[in-house]
Amino acid sequence: MIVMKIGGTSMGDALRMDKALDIAASQIDKAPVMVCSAMGGITDQIITSFESAEAGNIEESNIIFETIKDRHYTCAREFLEGDFLKEVVIDLDGTFAQFASLLKGVGLLRDCSPRSRDALLSFGERLSTRVIHARAAQRGMDSELLDARKLVRTDENFTSARPDMEETFRLCRENAHPVSGRLLITQGFIASSPAGVTTTLGRGGSDYSASIMGAALDAGEIQIWTDVNGIMTSDPRMIPEAATIPEITYEEAGELAFFGAKVVHPATIQPAVAKGIPVLVKDTGSPEREGTRIAANAGSPGLKAISVKKGITVVNIASSRMLEAHGFLRRIFAIFDAAETPVDLVTTSEVSVSVTIEKTESLPGILKKLEALGEVSVENGLSIICMVGRDLWKNPSFPAKAFSALNDIPVRMISLGASEVNLSLVVPSEKSDAALKNLHSRFF
Ligand code: ADP
Ligand code: ASP
Ligand code: MG
Repeated sequence: MIVMKIGGTSMGDALRMDKALDIAASQIDKAPVMVCSAMGGITDQIITSFESAEAGNIEESNIIFETIKDRHYTCAREFLEGDFLKEVVIDLDGTFAQFASLLKGVGLLRDCSPRSRDALLSFGERLSTRVIHARAAQRGMDSELLDARKLVRTDENFTSARPDMEETFRLCRENAHPVSGRLLITQGFIASSPAGVTTTLGRGGSDYSASIMGAALDAGEIQIWTDVNGIMTSDPRMIPEAATIPEITYEEAGELAFFGAKVVHPATIQPAVAKGIPVLVKDTGSPEREGTRIAANAGSPGLKAISVKKGITVVNIASSRMLEAHGFLRRIFAIFDAAETPVDLVTTSEVSVSVTIEKTESLPGILKKLEALGEVSVENGLSIICMVGRDLWKNPSFPAKAFSALNDIPVRMISLGASEVNLSLVVPSEKSDAALKNLHSRFF
């Protein structure tokens, strides 16, 4: 069997959904499970709708709700007719009625807990899959719609729930039976807690769903269908001349995703690696093109791609007490750990430590505790430029070439070799676009 993940960008309207179904039809003998995102932009609109309701802007919330509704009915009417259309309209009416009453609750209470957010967020994928499933049936495809909440089990960490792999594998095998000639359709991004409450895997999480389901069902291949031809040497929206990378390792792809390449969700790779399942990233707009193949030992060493992660904060801790003392780093990291704040990059000297973080909600509390250890300072408005490729450090001319491309752009932190697949540079955000452009044109 294979898993095909259809991204929001490829679920945008009736025409695009039909393209996705063409691709599924062309591989129907491979027993595909199609994992779909919400229609492009809908998840963002759902968020605006409940945030407006929570803020008491009921009118604004209603307008967005109507926009979301319109988009789905228009899409359904564009490619469905007869009983297929009638049944979908009945289902959409029911689902939108639920959606409306939840939004009303948020507006009345002026409160939207993470648990309520997930209930509301789930409508995007539930609606899109209902529509595309009806179209598959109308086209005469043998297809079945499965509720992903009966396939993926997570903890109760609402809005970025962590899957319970063992239970998920069991549920997938019990409830999904891929067979050649039949298309199974389900939702990405959404899952359920042990008590059956709706959860989500975090923004962009449909890729992760696809990979989890692929691992559970022993897929021969996991295909990520999106709006660009695979993973490219940089984000083509920022670097138009970026080129497709034909092959990349799991480790390199994971690093790229983590440091800003939105094309695959950072967690996507793990379940696939564990089972050695190749992941393909392909363009729904031109399915005949090869795209990118992610697998163990894929491609050659050397620089593969450059990504940027904006909105980075650096925290510096300096203390002469660090000199020849032990346990200092442990104490620093314990403070970030207790505040559930991940640290991305670290550099140290004899008397100081600098770390980068992305999540800053808990920063005031962290700083208070760090102050007991030494002098603390914070720098905002930074970006990480991540140059990814294995064995970069083995090429002696690589760092010099990278730095000469940066000209007058100040580099605040450098980290090479920690993961063996990247060189990371921290630069001021206002210079990060220029840094990316210079580096890309120097190396590619
Ligand atoms: P989907 O809706 O299919 O999940 P996303 O918008 O999440 O699509 O991801 C695809 C987008 O990722 C592309 O349109 C592209 O702008 C962006 N992107 C960022 N970095 C890269 C990269 N290195 N290679 C390809 N695309 C990238
Ligand atoms: N619809 C969700 C989002 O926009 C999940 C996904 O598309 O991967 O974040
Ligand atoms: Mg995505």
